[in-house]
Amino acid sequence: MEKRIYNFSAGPAILPEEVLKEAQEQLFSYKDTGMSVMEMSHRSKAYDEIFKGAQNDLRKLLKIGDDYDVLFLQGGATLQFSMVPLNLMPPNNKADYINTGAWSKKAIKEAKRVGEVNVAATSESTNFNRIPKQEELKLNADASYVHFTSNNTIFGTEFRNEPEVGNVPLVCDASSDFLHKFVDINKYGLIYAGSQKNMGPAGVTVVIIKRDLLQRSSDNLHTYLNYKVHSEGDSLYNTPATFSIYVVGLVYKWLLNMGGLDEMYKRNVEKANILYDYIDASDGYYIGTAEKEDRSLMNVTYRLPNEDLEKKIIAEASAKGFSGIKGHRSVGGIRASIYNAFPKKGVADLVEFMKDFKKNN
Ligand SMILES: *Cc1c(COP(=O)(O)O)cnc(C)c1O
Repeated sequence: MEKRIYNFSAGPAILPEEVLKEAQEQLFSYKDTGMSVMEMSHRSKAYDEIFKGAQNDLRKLLKIGDDYDVLFLQGGATLQFSMVPLNLMPPNNKADYINTGAWSKKAIKEAKRVGEVNVAATSESTNFNRIPKQEELKLNADASYVHFTSNNTIFGTEFRNEPEVGNVPLVCDASSDFLHKFVDINKYGLIYAGSQKNMGPAGVTVVIIKRDLLQRSSDNLHTYLNYKVHSEGDSLYNTPATFSIYVVGLVYKWLLNMGGLDEMYKRNVEKANILYDYIDASDGYYIGTAEKEDRSLMNVTYRLPNEDLEKKIIAEASAKGFSGIKGHRSVGGIRASIYNAFPKKGVADLVEFMKDFKKNN
């Protein structure tokens, strides 16, 4: 099949075509090595360049200083739900969590196994259709850290700015909006993100950690779960997800070639506005599920007048090559995920399709 469809999947998700083509060209034999990246030792010179290149390009994109480590781990964001409290909760053994959806809840569940969790704010009573305001946050000055989920993949909400947390380290699950814009890394103690939403194929989890937090990691921790071990092993303590890291590295190069994260953000705002503007102009036929000021630029969630129409539009969309727009069951309706690699034309075409559907139904 030569033709590609519009892939609105929430994750694993669309990748830049340029990246796929480059990986295809290099699949059989990478540069002059005579082997695929998949077949290469993670300790080889060629792979070392790929690995360090990816780390350095990420440092360039986010202007990450030497006071932070960049780790490429496995286990997804899900393992970070455990690693974060295991490493960072001591010695106070209490942490603040902002509950903005299903992923926050899973993070809270794991943290509770380690210590005391204070839910600093939650939007659960309105089915997570909004981001709690700064004034709502009940933060503890002696918390070990504050955890938040920057983009809520399922509910279609996103923090516009980081919560203000004073001197307490800020920890962020950025799995579904990492690199959609520039963020000031110095505001964070730790950011983690699984690769398969906005950054590459599944298999690698980026963890950016402020080095001074590494002293909290106890030697009693299981080896793989200890950030200090990964830091001291230059993130190569054990075999990393070599091919995924290679593709993620190609995505970083693609982002740099596009003009970096400010340019990416401009495009993301433009793209999301095409869809949100039409939803708001549809006389209530399409209804966004998130509060306007908290709407995600990555996952656009909306409903139709009834569930039968929702089933119908999903079926018709899929037949026309708009794939993966079915909303998560906890919200229902439609979710169009329009990550960095998703083309603007695809969003405009979806809107044209939605206009036709409204006219005919
Ligand atoms: C997808 C997702 C996760 C889970 O990622 P895994 O790689 O499956 O562990 C966690 N947090 C957010 C915000 C997500 O979107």
